[in-house]
Amino acid sequence: MFGLLFGKFSRDIGIDLGTANTLVYVSGRGIVANEPSVVALNTKTGRVLAVGEEARKMVGKTPGHIIASRPLVDGVISEFEIAEQMLRYFVDKVHTGSMNFFPRPRIVIGVPSEITDVEKRAVEEAATNAGAREVYLIEEPMAAALGARLAVQEPTGHMVVDIGGGTSEITVISLGGIIVSQSLRVAGDHFNDAIIHYARDKHNLLLGERTAEEVKIEIGSALPFTEPRSISMRGRNLLNGLPKEVIITAEEVRRTLRPALDTIITSIKANMEQTPPEVLADVMVNGIMLAGGGSLLHGLDELLEREIQIPVYIAEDPLTAVVRGCGVVLENLNQLKEVLIDVQNT
Ligand code: ADP
Ligand code: MG
Repeated sequence: MFGLLFGKFSRDIGIDLGTANTLVYVSGRGIVANEPSVVALNTKTGRVLAVGEEARKMVGKTPGHIIASRPLVDGVISEFEIAEQMLRYFVDKVHTGSMNFFPRPRIVIGVPSEITDVEKRAVEEAATNAGAREVYLIEEPMAAALGARLAVQEPTGHMVVDIGGGTSEITVISLGGIIVSQSLRVAGDHFNDAIIHYARDKHNLLLGERTAEEVKIEIGSALPFTEPRSISMRGRNLLNGLPKEVIITAEEVRRTLRPALDTIITSIKANMEQTPPEVLADVMVNGIMLAGGGSLLHGLDELLEREIQIPVYIAEDPLTAVVRGCGVVLENLNQLKEVLIDVQNT
């Protein structure tokens, strides 16, 4: 009786704890939060001042004793306590107020496929401390595949490449399990870094992270645009410390990003070499599904298709695929238990 009631009213939560963005899904309601994975912390008192969008606005504008931190460097929890507070913020956000007398939620969290057992336990513990009744972990690429409604439990192979902020996850899935996977520390942040290095080396221009990201999103590409494009970037002249503005062309940005893209291509090929031939035959037919914000880089799908010679497509709404997949798990927990990470046995 109570179980039934709990099942009905408990607001179960799916979380994509990304290096760049954290998204929260609540069963029966859909995606309720989508904010940067940033925490602003007062280092004098140890208190968290803001989380998410509010914390991001503080980046670079805080007095000395306030730091804005991204606790999920490279996709795993590097600053455990800060990450825990961030999780608590998101859990509280959907689980407070008049709903307090309802049971604590079950939480499904997407984690990178290559994380260690210690890291898995850290995520689990953080979620428990943040108020979860039960915690389930799922590999992010598996969640992305579920979010895109791929038939992951069927005996056919799918390749998912999730290009996030800190990491790119390259994974082959079949029969509800992960056959091969690799987590590469080259993704969206790395593209920004490449632009920052280029501006410094070529123009003695010191760019901020957000400016570099703007350049990438506005005129970044994996293949040439049909018409010439350019954008101005503003930063500090490293020679005299004064403000400086430089025009950068899309062609320069494309050449700057190419080495990072080549690393991703090489890794996809290496991953294919490790994939059993029958599964690879399926992947040739099913194609490669791209997810994550990095997949939105202009022309990336086409470049990969040319280089790897099999169909490549971008998941619908690639930035939310993982959290929607966590939602699919919440709504079908019994049927999908086998695709989750079994923490007890790790
Ligand atoms: P994570 O899962 O690590 O939090 P996301 O999947 O949220 O990462 O993707 C964030 C990355 O996607 C960032 O590096 C961001 O710059 C990049 N990104 C978002 N939109 C675009 C776009 N239109 N073009 C290129 N990169 C993008
Ligand atoms: Mg992600």
